[in-house]
Amino acid sequence: MAITIILAGPRGRMGSEAVKMVENESDFKLVACIDRKYDGKQLKDIEGLPDLSVPVFQDIEKCFQQVNADIFIDLTVPEVGYYHTKTAIENNIRPVVGTTGFTDEQIVELSQLAETKKTGCIIAPNFAIGAVLMMKFSEMAAKYLPDVEIIEKHHDRKLDAPSGTAKKTAELIMKTRETRKQGHPDEKETIHGSRGAEMDGMRIHSVRLPGLVAHQEVIFGSSGQTLSIKHDSLNRESFMEGIKVSIYKVMDMKELAYGLENIL
Ligand code: NAP
Repeated sequence: MAITIILAGPRGRMGSEAVKMVENESDFKLVACIDRKYDGKQLKDIEGLPDLSVPVFQDIEKCFQQVNADIFIDLTVPEVGYYHTKTAIENNIRPVVGTTGFTDEQIVELSQLAETKKTGCIIAPNFAIGAVLMMKFSEMAAKYLPDVEIIEKHHDRKLDAPSGTAKKTAELIMKTRETRKQGHPDEKETIHGSRGAEMDGMRIHSVRLPGLVAHQEVIFGSSGQTLSIKHDSLNRESFMEGIKVSIYKVMDMKELAYGLENIL
C-alpha cells in the first residue's frame, strides 16, 4: 500500500522539487498540499506544478480533519513550519521537516511531544547525503585539528543565518573539540561582525549571493598545514534522496530525530 503524504510549500523551490520526487516514487502518494495562496483549489490549478487532482488547504487543522495521511512534509519558513510540525505530531502524522531556522527550544518541545505521542519525526537542516558526510568528516577531523572556522554560502533568498547546516556542523565538532577561541586573544573587529558569528569559540561566516544554492567549507588549520572539507549542493535535487530515505525511515520511528546523520 502506498505511503500517503501531505506537503506544505508546494510552490517553493524545495517544495516543487519534492512534489516531483513524490510523484516519481511509486510507493508514495501525494494526498493534499498546504499553501496560503491556493486554498480550496487543486494542485493542477497552480502554474508549473504537475497536473494532479490533489486538494490544497490553507488551514492545516482543516486539512488533517479532512485528509488522512502517513507523512507530513514541511518545506516552508520556521514561523509556520513549527506550528505545522506540532499539529502534525498531535494528529499522529509523521513529519519530515526540511524547513530551517527552528530554535533549540522548539526542537526540544517537538521532541518531547513526539515521544509522548509515540510518533516518528525527522527534522534535518540538510537533506543532502554529501553534506551529512561533510559534517561527520569535520567531527572526526576536529579531534586532531581543533583550530577550525566554517564558511557557509547560500542564495540571497535564504532568511536565516547562519545556516542550520553550519550550526549543526559546529555542534558535531563541539563533541570532539575542546572549547577554544579562534584568532588572536586580543583581536579587535574594526568593522562589527567582520569575524563572523561565534559558537564555542569557532567562527561561522555566512555569504549570501544570487547564483549560489547551498555550499559549505570547513577549514582546519595547524602549523604548516590546512585541511578543507567542502560540499556543494548544485541544485535542489541534491536534497531529494535524503527526504525519500527519511520518509521510509520515519514510518518505523516513534520519536524525533534531528539531523539526517542520526537515521542513516
Ligand atoms: P522558497 O522557495 O522561498 O519557498 C518557501 C515556501 O514556503 C513558499 O511556497 C512560500 O509561499 C511558503 N511560505 C512562506 N511563508 C509562508 C507562510 N507564512 N505560510 C505558509 N506558507 C509560507 O524556499 P525554499 O528554498 O524552497 O526553502 C524552503 C525551506 O527549506 C526553507 O526553510 C529553507 O531554509 C529550507 N531548505 C532546507 C534544505 C534541507 O536540506 N533541509 C535545503 C534547502 C532549503 P509564498 O510564495 O506564499 O511565500
